[in-house]
Amino acid sequence: MAKFDYDIIVIGGGAAGLTASTFAGQSAAKTLLIEKEKKLGGDCLHYGCVPSKSLIKSANVRHTMTRAQQFGLPAAGQLMAVDFSRIRERIQKIICTIQKHDEPEYIEKKYNVETKFGAPHFINNHTIELSGKQISARYFLIATGSSAFIPPIEGIDLVNYITNVEIFSLDQLPESMVVIGAGPIGMEMAQSFHRLGSKATVLETADCILPREDKDVSCYVQQLLKDEGLEIITSARVIRVTQKEDVITITYQANGENKNIQANALLVAAGRKANIEGLALENAGVKADRVIQVNSKMRTTARNIYACGDVTGGFQFTHTASYEAVVAIYNAILKIPKRVDFTNVVWCTYLDPEVASIGYNEQRARAAGIDFIVHKESFSGNDRALAEGETNGFIKLIINKRGSVIGVQIIGFHAGDLIHEWVPVLNGKVKLSVLTDSIHAYPTMAEINKNASVNYLVSTIPSWTKKITKLLFGYQGKV
Ligand SMILES: Cc1cc2nc3c(=O)[nH]c(=O)nc-3n(C[C@H](O)[C@H](O)[C@H](O)COP(=O)(O)OP(=O)(O)OC[C@H]3O[C@@H](n4cnc5c(N)ncnc54)[C@H](O)[C@@H]3O)c2cc1C
Repeated sequence: MAKFDYDIIVIGGGAAGLTASTFAGQSAAKTLLIEKEKKLGGDCLHYGCVPSKSLIKSANVRHTMTRAQQFGLPAAGQLMAVDFSRIRERIQKIICTIQKHDEPEYIEKKYNVETKFGAPHFINNHTIELSGKQISARYFLIATGSSAFIPPIEGIDLVNYITNVEIFSLDQLPESMVVIGAGPIGMEMAQSFHRLGSKATVLETADCILPREDKDVSCYVQQLLKDEGLEIITSARVIRVTQKEDVITITYQANGENKNIQANALLVAAGRKANIEGLALENAGVKADRVIQVNSKMRTTARNIYACGDVTGGFQFTHTASYEAVVAIYNAILKIPKRVDFTNVVWCTYLDPEVASIGYNEQRARAAGIDFIVHKESFSGNDRALAEGETNGFIKLIINKRGSVIGVQIIGFHAGDLIHEWVPVLNGKVKLSVLTDSIHAYPTMAEINKNASVNYLVSTIPSWTKKITKLLFGYQGKV
């Protein structure tokens, strides 16, 4: 057997790369992890999930202060302007705390993973060059992630736009902000900055926000955000941007007309592009168009090279990146065949209210040619939601012809946590009656999961069964 420097080299130290390398390192494989930046952790830790959720918390606390009177408290009065540097400090503290688990010394000691920093390129499918030195490996895993896609808008390179990389380290809160793109990243940031006191406007080419969600979900959330004062302009195409001192003018086309809007900050959140430049993938026989092509075992077109996470396109979440990484290592290192299955993929957009989904929604079910019915319940019927003052939202069950739940969407307070009761239900093909026969604590938001199931099952009981019950036992009630 040919001798290589390492059994596996993982390129990219984000969610996918860290999961893959630590799993490989614990599986007796001599593992090297290579990261281009100075620190491990990737987008999720430094410019994605962690800073965005920390920022969202600050924004939501401020928003709750404005609602004091709704809870029978004295009004919080005129809120002081936000000093963004304090929020930035909090975000950095949280990142530093989590970073401790991603220190090279820590992962070497705990998981037998060696780390090197730099940006390697492939010489062939078994060799890379890093800082002028060639290193070989039996297997490679590419997990270089994605970056903000910058659309070809006239003048875009001449203005100081920001992306997810800059937004969490701004010196001060912008007085106004335009966000291009109404996907999860754009919407989470727009609501947060609006709640912190910026005048935020979202411009989106599609006819609604969160286009991956069903129309009833995205329209519902869009209306709530508009009611809160966030400006959302859909079916709008940005065609030009210019800047004079600290004012950026954004020209967009909507309803056949050109319109201008001005702001102090321009956030581009118009999708993601895979980080593949500089890797010289062609030298290794790894095919990529806009993303690296992989099969369901996460193997690329080169037999000994795997790829996972954002760089492969698909679902671009931290949890799907880690899931794919585990599948790749099972196949590459442990030789246990595994394939990815995204039927019951779960996700959440951390707006207020949160928008969470598992499995099929109507769009996905229709695309798969599945017959289904929809059962909906409002949060306004949940006692805890009333006590919390959080009655916006609903749960939506997608049920197939056999009466099995194949998807759930929850829009509401803590939806991202509530959806997880459905993870074992859908993955374990658990009957709905198990949920309806189980005991849920009162009063909890989670009762919405049980109540939706009970009410759906009750709605399927044919009226003749009640007639028979009445006859059999001589009951006197209505049928
Ligand atoms: C603002 C924002 C909020 C988000 N919120 C959520 C959320 O709440 N929940 C969720 O699940 N997902 C969220 N995401 C998505 C999530 O961050 C990504 O899906 C996840 O980070 C993908 O992991 P990855 O390992 O594929 O890529 P990354 O985490 O980006 O890691 C890739 C790593 O590879 C390195 N790299 C790149 N090129 C090279 C090279 N040539 N050589 C060596 N190293 C290289 C990069 O520096 C980086 O460290 C969010 C993203 C953003 C931008």
